[in-house]
Amino acid sequence: MSERDTIVLKFGGTSVRDADAMRRVVKITKENGGQTPVVVTSACAGVTNDLVACGNFCVERNEAEAITIIDKLTERHLGILDDLCHDGSPHRCDRQLGLLLDELRQLVRGVMLLGETTPRAIDTILSFGERLSSTILTTAFREAGINTGLADSRQVISTDGTHGSALPIISAIEPKGSEVIQPLQKSHDVVIAQGFIGSTLEGVTTTIGRGGSDHSAALFGVALGAKEIQIWTDVDGVMTADPRLVPEAKAVPEMTFTEARELAWFGAKIIHPDTILPALAKHIPVVIRNSHSPSAPGTRICPDDHSLSPGFHSLTIKRDLILVEIATRNPGMEREVLDRAIGLFAHYQAPIECAVIAESRASVLVSKSVWNDRLHVRIESICNVEIRKEMAILCLIGSGLRDTPALLSLPLTALHNIPIRLLAAGSSDHVVLLGIDEADGDNGLQALHEALFP
Ligand code: ASP
Ligand code: MG
Repeated sequence: MSERDTIVLKFGGTSVRDADAMRRVVKITKENGGQTPVVVTSACAGVTNDLVACGNFCVERNEAEAITIIDKLTERHLGILDDLCHDGSPHRCDRQLGLLLDELRQLVRGVMLLGETTPRAIDTILSFGERLSSTILTTAFREAGINTGLADSRQVISTDGTHGSALPIISAIEPKGSEVIQPLQKSHDVVIAQGFIGSTLEGVTTTIGRGGSDHSAALFGVALGAKEIQIWTDVDGVMTADPRLVPEAKAVPEMTFTEARELAWFGAKIIHPDTILPALAKHIPVVIRNSHSPSAPGTRICPDDHSLSPGFHSLTIKRDLILVEIATRNPGMEREVLDRAIGLFAHYQAPIECAVIAESRASVLVSKSVWNDRLHVRIESICNVEIRKEMAILCLIGSGLRDTPALLSLPLTALHNIPIRLLAAGSSDHVVLLGIDEADGDNGLQALHEALFP
């Protein structure tokens, strides 16, 4: 297998929730995974929550309830297996599944006996979600006639010992691609691995934080020097705007990592960009795809040095802000006093969302939730302050925004009848921020979307 041939496909809990969903995973992988894909799977939808509840019952020493959960999980997983294959199927994995479920049962009993549920024990309990789903998914592939190998991600994803949110150790993970996964790729057409779980250098099972499977996929991509990482979810990709606010929103074909990060920072519900950082640092693109509409191309998030044509790619709105307008009253001392006033925001733990500072005036947007009377009083003791409540920021995300100022004419024209209380452009190549009254938010967003993404 030559370097950079592998595609890593990650499927979340809803994509493996039942037999039909798993069959879709097989089809998608066949059509999109290229040669010898590596599939990283989450636990079946809801299972990690059930295991968390099971762990909590262990802490409360309520064995009956903990076992009831395991009974329910047993029924659920065996049910999926029944739906996937007939009784006589040579691929049925009842035995492996049975062993895993027995192990979980014994673990819970042992923890009860000990009377102490450690974070380490909880992590081992949680690891069963992905261990069960990956075992069944392997069967789904084999049922489709595909020669499929099952890897144990704990042999690949080395982490520190912070149970519940263990930190991956990239230098230890990197060689594992060729040591653990590539040998499996040589003898199989597809390799399946678990998201979310890892182990310490001593071999103790860990988990890397809820929703961690995207991060796992990125780490597998790094270990394998993958050509591409595909995150299969239930949306069409990163959207030009929140479709609940702008029904005409469509998927953004391509954006850079920094754009994705800015978008997440300003409140868009997309995959947490930092989780895919390891992949982008190695120049591996990450593509967000919709498993319910697999023919849609999705959104390609590429490394920052990838040059995209200048333009806007998406919009988001951040609400519940207030605008603090500060003016100094000390001629000759303007800057000094203004700097002190600005410094107070950090001192009172009120992070600034956006600010524009001129010689004797500053306009600062902060979240309502962090603005406080003490900060107000302190600023007022040195400057004149005016507060404008119910504000919002329209955030325009794109590429080449600094070097192509003509691009700005489009949004400014689109918003011609909406008063702009603050405009920040030029400080970033990727973001333009427009502070407006919250009451104008919906209209503003709609007008901008129509103009930028006709
Ligand atoms: N199964 C884990 C969770 O639900 C990890 C994941 O789904 O990404 O948090
Ligand atoms: Mg999950």
